[in-house]
Amino acid sequence: MVQVSFHGAMASIGCSSVLVDTGGEKILMDYGTKVQEIPPLFPIPVQGKVDAIIISHAHLDHVGAIPIFSTKKNNCPIFSQGVTKPLSRLLWLDSIKISREEGVELPFSRNDVEATLDSFVPVNFRSPFKVHNTKATLFDAGHIPGSALTYLDAGGKKILYTGDYKTTDTKLVKGADLKLPEVDVMVTESTYSDREHPDRKLQEKELVRTVRDTLSRDGVALISGFAVGRIDELLLVLDSNGIDYPLYVDGMAKKAITIINQHKNLLKDPKSLDKALEKAQYVADHKMRKKIIKQPGVILSTGGMLQGGPIVWYIQKLFDKKNCSLTMSGFQVEGTPGKTLLETGRYINKDIDLEVHMDVKKLNFSSHASRDDLFEFIKHVNPEKIFCVHGEHTEDFARELNEQGFDATAPLANNRIFNL
Ligand SMILES: [Zn+2]
Ligand SMILES: [Zn+2]
Repeated sequence: MVQVSFHGAMASIGCSSVLVDTGGEKILMDYGTKVQEIPPLFPIPVQGKVDAIIISHAHLDHVGAIPIFSTKKNNCPIFSQGVTKPLSRLLWLDSIKISREEGVELPFSRNDVEATLDSFVPVNFRSPFKVHNTKATLFDAGHIPGSALTYLDAGGKKILYTGDYKTTDTKLVKGADLKLPEVDVMVTESTYSDREHPDRKLQEKELVRTVRDTLSRDGVALISGFAVGRIDELLLVLDSNGIDYPLYVDGMAKKAITIINQHKNLLKDPKSLDKALEKAQYVADHKMRKKIIKQPGVILSTGGMLQGGPIVWYIQKLFDKKNCSLTMSGFQVEGTPGKTLLETGRYINKDIDLEVHMDVKKLNFSSHASRDDLFEFIKHVNPEKIFCVHGEHTEDFARELNEQGFDATAPLANNRIFNL
């Protein structure tokens, strides 16, 4: 009997983790944290040893807790697309650093991270590999470079775990690979199950307009985004719209973009980042930061929800400048400084509390499937059984799917183990 159990991301986003136990082998897909909490939340522990871990992509809500297995001497192979290893390393080392600054110790060290990295086995999309008797294949998920849909042929059950996915192209990557084999059981993300995305082209126009308006006022256009897969997308948007003002990239995005650009085959246009980076400069040090805020220009910086990273310093310097702008490039989770700023006009982050006079707005450059895309993709896969995870409205989503004739369930913490 094949069993599937959920260790996080139930009716929420964060701590993504699904365990498939075939009776012969235990395969864990993702083991993420929830970083909006301090200290970060960890998924439900896995009992006993796992035989393999498969990582969907390098975002902390999917990989954040994986080094835990090294602390337990459970050094099993970790399969992922090649770029996921250096990106995960970057995220793990950064999360250790940030936790120290917050005065909390993560339950793993740099040594555990290094031991975890030794266990990685890079796999290409569409190239099957074996975990004992289970055959596994990764397909491009179209979410960020290297993001994968994981397909398992386990004990006669054909399981598709989507991780995060997007079925339409962005500037950075192509949409998900839709040529999939037959699926019995699908575990789908549900991030945008309750809402559509605004028109992407209009979001791009709005970003470009905001930047041009700010520069015409001799201001600094500050743009916040996630380090992996977002700042690079924004660079491409600005480049394709002919923004040729001084353009700076700051924070962890610098390292993430460098890594991603070493895997050009994963980009929609392999030369696109090189071209965009010709016009951009990486912010090298604090001296450079102080200099670039004194002249009109565009600064792209992490963190995405204004919680940490160099963006915090920039806001403290520019908050009262009416000629400057601050554009958030994606969803702001409840309780984050970004969300609070949108609701109250104040930037509140730990001991900082400022009334912001910059032109503040939030745009949507999401790398997730929209509501329509989710339904369309599920119809396309047409599984016998669906589990809805990674969303704040998974129960409503499952109900809607059931009304459309599917057999869908939203696992919850008290009901999270299923026989297939
Ligand atoms: Zn993601
Ligand atoms: Zn995610």
